[in-house]
Amino acid sequence: MEKILVIGKGISGKGASKLLKDLGFRTYVVDDKKKFGFSYLKQKLFDGLSMVVVSPGVELSHELVVEAKKRGIEVVGELEFASRYLVSDNIAITGTNGKTTTTSLVGHLLSGGQRTVRVAGNIGKALSTVVLDSTMLDITVIEVSSFQLETICYFKPKIACLLNISEDHLNRHKTMENYIKTKFRIFENQEPYDKAILNLDDPIIMGQDLTAIKSEVFFFSLKTECKGCYLKDGKIYFNDGNQTKFVMDESLIALKGKHNIANALAGILASILIGETIENICLRMPSFKGAKHRLEYVAEINGVTFINDSKATNISSTIVAMQAMTEHFSIILGGSDKGYEFDKLFEDKNPLLKNVIVLGETKQKILDSAGRQGVSNVYEVKSFKDAVNLAYELSESGETVLLSPACASFDMFTSYEQRGDVFCNIVRGLKDKT
Ligand code: ADP
Repeated sequence: MEKILVIGKGISGKGASKLLKDLGFRTYVVDDKKKFGFSYLKQKLFDGLSMVVVSPGVELSHELVVEAKKRGIEVVGELEFASRYLVSDNIAITGTNGKTTTTSLVGHLLSGGQRTVRVAGNIGKALSTVVLDSTMLDITVIEVSSFQLETICYFKPKIACLLNISEDHLNRHKTMENYIKTKFRIFENQEPYDKAILNLDDPIIMGQDLTAIKSEVFFFSLKTECKGCYLKDGKIYFNDGNQTKFVMDESLIALKGKHNIANALAGILASILIGETIENICLRMPSFKGAKHRLEYVAEINGVTFINDSKATNISSTIVAMQAMTEHFSIILGGSDKGYEFDKLFEDKNPLLKNVIVLGETKQKILDSAGRQGVSNVYEVKSFKDAVNLAYELSESGETVLLSPACASFDMFTSYEQRGDVFCNIVRGLKDKT
């Protein structure tokens, strides 16, 4: 029986080991968080080992990965491994921001159709856990992160969508160039009968050499008529390269913010290209309400609206959140440091921005950026609870408190979900007092 090592015991690692067991492989799972006698284990582990499956959270500089490569053992990511057993049609969606929103939207839009649809990948459900259930008649919509793209080899989406690229994860990818290259790997194995979807409005994407993409290229745009899906005068159109069809009014989309219209254009386009009818897409669109922790309405207390955008873990997602505000707002910023400065947050001098409350590991960096950009009304706090309380105190009726930290959460929380949940609980506590 072939012996395979899985590194990481999170969602992906557990999914991979279950799939491996179902397939009849002898499987070993290790996790750095579990203490083990490493040198002893290493000797044993590599005896007769035929493959290593790594979870996306594991860096390729990990000792076991390096050792496996040195010994000529194949190292693949969980997504790559699982995709080798995927027989359904697949739509893969990547980008710095909007992956979960767009992936869930496509799952939602297609679920009204004839074919069984599954949503998996970086969205909290490992691809490994769905591949054995899917048939050639089904569709799998896969959210793909840059970490997963680092370890693909043959992964070949029928439809591959790149939503946007901005600075993120530089602590892992080191340079922007590397990060961009990794994102473009989503198209690497596509063939002429596959389809690529790209954001025409994204200067980083459009600045790359697109002739390297072998599949048929479609675009989406909020501004420009193009082959693909675009917005014009509040209406969404689809152009297949020859003909243009009206799809729907922008107002059918229930999500806040122009960035979500862009996500919707990408999602509509992917759905059309996989064969869904415009009629079904229009029927399903209004009931899509977005995902938790993404510009999520929490409550209104004494006229102050609270919005949880804890998933804003980089600068560009916070910028779009600020642009989506329609009233004066106070923003809570800060968290763990990924190695960037925060000046871009304040460059557009948003007239609705009233107060900035900063905390966490990146507090000083944000204070410095705000200072350089001439932003006043910046307050430092020590605890998350203080941040919410102060934001509330500083707000008047009709205004909004926005948690959109522009940072990961790991300095104070275990995840962005936990940070969002804590925010919602504190807000509900405020409500109780009134
Ligand atoms: P991802 O899965 O790529 O992290 P999500 O859909 O979970 O994307 O959204 C993450 C954050 O990015 C949220 O704060 C959300 O409001 C914001 N966001 C969503 N779509 C976009 C977009 N197209 N451009 C910029 N930010 C976005």
